[in-house]
Amino acid sequence: MIVIMKTDTPNLEIQRIIQELQTESITPEKIVGKHKVIIGLVGNTTTLNPEHIQQLSPFIEKVMRVDKPFKRASLEFRHGEPTEVSVPTPNGVVVFGQNHPIVTIAGPCSVENEAMIVETACQVKAAGAKLLRGGAYKPRTSPYSFQGHGESALALLAKAREVTGLGIVTEVMDPADLPKVAEVADIVQIGARNMQNFSLLKQLGAINQPILLKRGMAATIEDWLMSAEYILAAGNPNVILCERGIRTFDRKYTRNTLDLAAIPVLRTLTHLPIVVDPSHGTGKVEYVPTMAKAAIAAGADSLMIEVHPNPAKALSDGPQSLTPAQYEALMQEIAVIGPVFGRQSQKFPRSTGTSFSTAKTLPKAPLAM
Ligand code: PEP
Ligand code: MN
Repeated sequence: MIVIMKTDTPNLEIQRIIQELQTESITPEKIVGKHKVIIGLVGNTTTLNPEHIQQLSPFIEKVMRVDKPFKRASLEFRHGEPTEVSVPTPNGVVVFGQNHPIVTIAGPCSVENEAMIVETACQVKAAGAKLLRGGAYKPRTSPYSFQGHGESALALLAKAREVTGLGIVTEVMDPADLPKVAEVADIVQIGARNMQNFSLLKQLGAINQPILLKRGMAATIEDWLMSAEYILAAGNPNVILCERGIRTFDRKYTRNTLDLAAIPVLRTLTHLPIVVDPSHGTGKVEYVPTMAKAAIAAGADSLMIEVHPNPAKALSDGPQSLTPAQYEALMQEIAVIGPVFGRQSQKFPRSTGTSFSTAKTLPKAPLAM
């Protein structure tokens, strides 16, 4: 249930209402949006009567039940206002959200050695990436496949961050590694295979870093949002969803089926920002640029792209990794199509691309990759 306060409500009145609504099973939460303050009530709200709550104060605009099983993740919980997830990096704060520039995250599947991660970081930065991805702990189907260099790879990511100022996105698999990963990561990735590792999800409330929550390969949209709910309920409000493809019957020509329809669906259900990963979503380098552009057209806030200096020699996911030159070419195309969908590019301003008269009529969104 949510209690929407009128715009001019004094803070003391909000505190008073919060105290009134506090029970053994419900801890009211104050949610401060751009235009409104909302008091969120999560727990056993079945016995609460919205009409009685409405009478608590003339400053209450409306009381509404949230029917969805995911409460904090639901669009209603923020009264339709999109969440902005801010990620401080040495190069500045990167914001993920609907009214913000498209953020690109790029880098290799796995961190292989210092030269490759630093070189890749410099190249993706030059092409417009704001964050560097790279796995230190790799979830692999086979125990005989490269498992990632672990802690030493974390140190290499820290080095790449120091050299380029890019923020770092890297995966945690084992809850025991969380403190070490959180020391280096600006965004902690939860991979598809761990999307429903509930004990891991519960521990993510203990860290400050935003979480990139990948969709499980057989997860429904609701399963995915329930996993996001675990993180939000644990006390970490900074969750970014990442669509990376789901398993369907056809695996011959693509590795996964990239569910781009999930983007407009999510927009009706949740306020959380959305990243699309066309690398795992297709599994093949030749399809990555097309699906990256399609993701922008479908309304994604961000892209995560695997880039490797020598994909043929990659220790993991070479077949789906772009070279730095291919990545740069894709970023230039996105700079051109972005404005058509209301998003512009700082790095490649509109004058370098085709001018689209429709862009003027679209909602104005700020710049860049
Ligand atoms: C990855 O990002 O390299 C990865 C393993 O992704 P996923 O969890 O989506 O398979
Ligand atoms: Mn990968």
